[in-house]
Amino acid sequence: MRNNKYLFLFTLTFFTLGIVNIHFALLGFICMTLPIILLIKNQRKTWCQGYCPRSSLYTTIGKTKKWKSRNTPRFFIKGNMKWIMLLYFGISLSFITMSTIAVARGIKPAMEILRFLIIIPIPFKMPQLIDMIEIAPWVTHLAYRFYSMMMTTTILGLVLGLLYKPRTWCTVCPIATISDVILKK
Ligand code: SF4
Repeated sequence: MRNNKYLFLFTLTFFTLGIVNIHFALLGFICMTLPIILLIKNQRKTWCQGYCPRSSLYTTIGKTKKWKSRNTPRFFIKGNMKWIMLLYFGISLSFITMSTIAVARGIKPAMEILRFLIIIPIPFKMPQLIDMIEIAPWVTHLAYRFYSMMMTTTILGLVLGLLYKPRTWCTVCPIATISDVILKK
């Protein structure tokens, strides 16, 4: 099965909705859980093979490249890079969970900026076209943290796709690594 060539519009819509209001970022949880639900149901990587908007984005941008792609580094395909990315993903999720609990308990204020690679603050505030009132601070914090994680991994994937083959990110994508582990079991 091949990705629909317009699926990348979902990725662009996701990031645009974050500018409309950051709480839309919570829709990204669907992108994280659906691949695993489909995997368990179908016993194959249905999401990766036909429905992933992110890989559609990389493929689409790859087609606009005017230079020749370099070969994907061997340690991406056969080495430990996918485990390093999985570790980053695990640390990131732990950070998101622990900091959201701390905000919910009033121990720390909500983070209302984006961060690259968990800790590097983006030096401007996201425009918010619509205000949502009476949303608990921990929900806002969770939304910013989640959007930051999606933004980071998408940028990393884009850089890899521009340097190497368009879908190089897929060789180290944590969702693919988790899927492989589940399938082996
Ligand atoms: S490996 Fe990751 S980015 Fe690639 S198709 Fe699967 S879920 Fe999408």
